[in-house]
Parts: sequence; structure tokens; C-alpha cells
Amino acid sequence: MHSTVRPSTVVELGETAAVRGVHVLDVSVNGGSEKASRGTLTLMIGGDETVARDLSPLFNAFGENVFYMGPTGSGVVGKLINNLIAVGSYALQLEGMRLGAAYGLNEDAITTAVIASQGDNKGIRTWGRHDRKRAVRAAQGVDWSERMGRDLQEAAIAAGVRGVTLSVTSVIADAMPSMLRRRDRELAVAPMAQPAEFCEVCGQESRGLVPRGGVHPECRPGYWHTA
Ligand SMILES: [Zn+2]
Repeated sequence: MHSTVRPSTVVELGETAAVRGVHVLDVSVNGGSEKASRGTLTLMIGGDETVARDLSPLFNAFGENVFYMGPTGSGVVGKLINNLIAVGSYALQLEGMRLGAAYGLNEDAITTAVIASQGDNKGIRTWGRHDRKRAVRAAQGVDWSERMGRDLQEAAIAAGVRGVTLSVTSVIADAMPSMLRRRDRELAVAPMAQPAEFCEVCGQESRGLVPRGGVHPECRPGYWHTA
């Protein structure tokens, strides 16, 4: 199962199928369209570990980084966790850029300096990617600003089902749509100063990395230890 459904749905399906001796694996796909076209997706797998290992040649055919996460539903939960960390960080990055703009700082100066500091993360290394993707989707008639908040809501709902409250996630989920609309209004008036550069390995934005060769450190050969 590859679709992004609620973990509870996968768990129910797994239980129903188990009665008939059928294994259900949930395999979430992470990495976006750039990685999909290069066959370098990250897969997170939930379900019976032996079955997952037996099927690894299939998963290795379209994923580069394949992770076994835990029992049925874990693949979907892993994706929700990744989304909440990525989108939650993005919300803070947007606020950091607003603070910078209020004091006349250029976004390229911010990304270049932060990459070499403690605030470094994938969102800063690919700064501008979300803006580009929202613009592409807007041209297709899709309002992505609502969608980003919904991903976080799903994470908060999945936690709530197990009695866990994700209070910060819920706040960001509510704030995200209006934050993104404001970002798009601001970009329409004042686009980013430098044209985007793209990492030649992963194809995503490499803003701020131009002085360091324009390739994300994690995209350089040998960065990931492979057993
Ligand atoms: Zn890269």
C-alpha cells in the first residue's frame, strides 16, 4: 500500500487481511518529484519485517534509501513525522525570513550564513523550492497553501487517536495557509534577489550552497554510509 491514508486505516486493513493469511505492508514514498524522476526516493515500510526483507529487490528498484520502520502502519506514521518536521521547520524558516526582511537582510545572505550555523537544515539548503512548487501548482489551479496545513493536521489527528497531543503542530497547521498566502503576495511584489541554482545530484534548489560548489553535502558520493 503506497497511498497516504490514516495509520488507523492501515492497521485495520492489516488486521482484516491477517485473518485470511494475507500480509499488508504500508510503504510510504518520500522525496518529491525530483527524486522520483531520478529513482532516489526514500521509502518507509511498515508491516511484517520478514515479508518486507523478502520484497526488498522490488523496493530497491524505485527507492534509493529503504527503511523498515516497524509494525503495520509505521510507514505512514514515518511519513507523517517527516512531514510535520519538514513543514513545521518551514513555518519557522518563513518567520526567520520575515524577521530578516524587517531589518533589510537579503534571503540569500541568510541562507548562506545559516547553512554554516546551527539552524542548517534541508529546508534552508533548498530554500525557494516550496515557492517554486506552489507556483507550479497554482498554474495548474491547485491551492497548495491549504494542503500543507492539512498534512500537519493529519499528524495531529494520528497522535490524538493514541491519546497524544501535538500542540505546536496544531498551531502551525492552523497558521500555515495564511502564512503561505502572505509569502506568495510578498514574492509577487519582490521576488528573491538571486536566480535559483539547482543541485546537480538531486535536482532541488541549492540556494546558499553556491560558494560551496552548489551541491548539497548529503548529495555528495559517500556521504551516506551503506552497509
Ligand atoms: Zn542535492
